[in-house]
Amino acid sequence: LQFSELGLPAVITRALDEVGYTTPTEVQAQSIPAALKGADLLVSAQTGSGKTASFLLPALAKLSERTDKPGKGPRILVLTPTRELAQQIEKNAQTYAAGMRWMRTACLVGGQPFGFQTRALSRPVDLIVATPGRLMDHMRQGRIDFSRLEMLVLDEADRMLDMGFIEDIETIVAATPESRQTLLFSATLDGNVGRLARELTRNPERIEI
Ligand code: AMP
Repeated sequence: LQFSELGLPAVITRALDEVGYTTPTEVQAQSIPAALKGADLLVSAQTGSGKTASFLLPALAKLSERTDKPGKGPRILVLTPTRELAQQIEKNAQTYAAGMRWMRTACLVGGQPFGFQTRALSRPVDLIVATPGRLMDHMRQGRIDFSRLEMLVLDEADRMLDMGFIEDIETIVAATPESRQTLLFSATLDGNVGRLARELTRNPERIEI
């Protein structure tokens, strides 16, 4: 199975060739076609399974179709529990989007000065990767316009709940358009994660690896 058979555009499959990915992992083979057709997803997958590319590749495929919507807010938002994960996700996105030089990203995480992040938000941004607390700080300052948002990704949703981010997540999601596509990734889909998933997604496809 090749990445091109999953329906990804050539601008992305060329970048995957460059970094030496030859075949999709199992979670990628199941998640990418479902996400590309526009479905909401609930995915249980562990770190190391290739889950990051499972949401980044369909997200970047969406971005590769340029929008004519006015505004400077993000088209894709990825929420993740820690600074290290956020930085890794942004780095991977830049690698996979090597052929989309116009793409602008912002990484909004705690424990870092506001200046650089605020400057990144003063220009149009395509993809934001954020931890919930710092994103909320920027939202309270009126720096985030979600009117262009097409896709919301919750990465490691179980860990975000364990860290007490539930209220922040609910506030953030309430600020996004209902028309968005939502992808939720978690080690487990039971209990509190299941309840959150029912709130946030519409007719989701469930993928368990
Ligand atoms: P993740 O589970 O997203 O943290 O990914 C684990 C590691 O696998 C990362 O170093 C990725 O760069 C790498 N990786 C992800 N997908 C593939 C693939 N299809 N082929 C080879 N390596 C991959």
